[in-house]
Amino acid sequence: MPYTQFMATLVCVPIMVTDEASALRAAAAARDAGADIAEFRVDDYFAGTGEAEDAARVARLVSRSPLPCILTCRPTWEGGHYDGDDDVRVAMFERACVGLQGGEHAPRYIDVELAAYDRSDNLRLKVNLCVDPREREQSAGLILSSHDFDSRPADLTRRVLSMRCHEASRVHKVAFRARSLRDNIELFELLRHADRPMIALGMGEFGLMSRVLAPKFGAFLTFASLRDSSATAPGQPTVAQLLETYRFRSIRASTRVYGVVGWPVSHSLSPRIHNAGFGELGIDAVYLPMPIAGGATPKDNDASLKATLTDLIGYGPLDFGGCSVTIPHKESLVRISRELGWEVDASAAMIGAANTLMVSREGGRAIVRVFNSDAPAAIESIKNATKSGSIAGLTIGVVGAGGAGRAIAFGAAMAGATPIIFNRDHARARELAGAVASATGVPARSEAWEGMAGASCDVWLNCTPLGMKSGPAPEALAIPEAALSRGAIVMDTVYTPRETPLLRKAREHGCTVVEGLEMFVRQAALQFEAWTGMPAPMETFRRAVCESLGG
Ligand code: NAP
Repeated sequence: MPYTQFMATLVCVPIMVTDEASALRAAAAARDAGADIAEFRVDDYFAGTGEAEDAARVARLVSRSPLPCILTCRPTWEGGHYDGDDDVRVAMFERACVGLQGGEHAPRYIDVELAAYDRSDNLRLKVNLCVDPREREQSAGLILSSHDFDSRPADLTRRVLSMRCHEASRVHKVAFRARSLRDNIELFELLRHADRPMIALGMGEFGLMSRVLAPKFGAFLTFASLRDSSATAPGQPTVAQLLETYRFRSIRASTRVYGVVGWPVSHSLSPRIHNAGFGELGIDAVYLPMPIAGGATPKDNDASLKATLTDLIGYGPLDFGGCSVTIPHKESLVRISRELGWEVDASAAMIGAANTLMVSREGGRAIVRVFNSDAPAAIESIKNATKSGSIAGLTIGVVGAGGAGRAIAFGAAMAGATPIIFNRDHARARELAGAVASATGVPARSEAWEGMAGASCDVWLNCTPLGMKSGPAPEALAIPEAALSRGAIVMDTVYTPRETPLLRKAREHGCTVVEGLEMFVRQAALQFEAWTGMPAPMETFRRAVCESLGG
């Protein structure tokens, strides 16, 4: 009989204990940050000497904790640091749970590995004496846990069934390294069919979804770090990210799920924007980074995108409402949409790339639509900078013929402007100009990269990563100074930093400048409006990006 959790999912901060004072400070900071419970990992603190004082100081730490706590002493064979004797370890649990002395109290839970508990009758008996299977304030509960730091364990089902045989356990915990987004679905199913409170987490970048969506599937708790631990525990969010960015406390069974699909996506600003928008308008939805690795060839790329998206869309309990799609999947999205019979809007079909997927349901059937919000976002940003509000009849220098350059060249032509395309690899520029001309009838053309300095355009647009903070040439000017004439409009698609070397130089030359941030916010707003049917809160979006970029 599946178990239904009525209590809210707890936020737990794991603390690797080295000394009492710093562990208590960390627990107080966790409490102040909004966590509900701390996990004291005493693998390095408990020496395992067998001396009474060794266990007594663990009991003291637990009793002085400003937050309820889980007491864990993880052995080396399960990914921890404790390499002492198991009997000594269990004696420490006994001292902390039932051998209490004046004023001490027990931890809320102790965590014991299923493998140890299964292996030894003696250990099981002793552990059972430390814990109470009923939920009571004064006594410790047992968390039976199982971890795999490499991948999904082949015997996962056996492990879960084995946990269920042990009546003494109050909570079950399964954590393994997720190999792809699809592993999260199996974790959600474990939660949905749990027979008692359960923790089911995917470790690593692919498992973030299982951590953030824990309340949607009724998990007992999720872990979050106090500080950014992306280097040591990839995929584990901070308490602040969980509570503020992802609005964890408002996630419930009915929450719709959106995200950004790409590789890499962990540093994308899109979750900040969309979650802030959902929060502002009180929409029951959450937006997550959704990494899907790129393939070695376009065919491999299509295959991995298709497999993951169809699983996410097909898994009803997830309420997947759609996603933003970024590098390297924009072109794949159009190809797989055609193959799967999803609706591709006319402009995405013409461009051959899409950055948005939306899912609606009719009588239980998923209706999937894809479109491109990059092109209209860029064109609107430029129109806004013109006196007339129109770009019809203007000559637009598009620098770059990749995904962004392609979308913008088509968008400009459809708005009545004439694009001139410059690209380092001129053959690509020529091909794009030809495609735009034949699809729209506008006399788009390409010119040599070296010819840019002598070219005259009403509007210039950088669609390469030149000038980007972490890009190939952060100080480079994508467009030569000689081309920047007074009165021209210059837009950079790069938005880190907000003022790129190109925009600085263009300002000096009296050009009207348009920041890449403007396009970024507008393309997100078009997605938001398509998903929610509500106007995007533009000021909230801009504030979220500016806060993330620090200015
Ligand atoms: P992409 O498909 O990989 O294309 C990259 C383009 O940049 C190609 O034309 C490439 O030329 C050119 N390029 C790369 N390195 C270069 C270098 N060292 N010197 C000269 N040209 C170089 O990428 P994309 O999706 O078009 O993105 C391009 C830029 O647009 C990125 O910086 C991205 O952040 C930005 N963007 C911004 C927004 C927004 O909302 N603001 C949206 C989408 C994209 P070759 O063909 O010769 O390789």
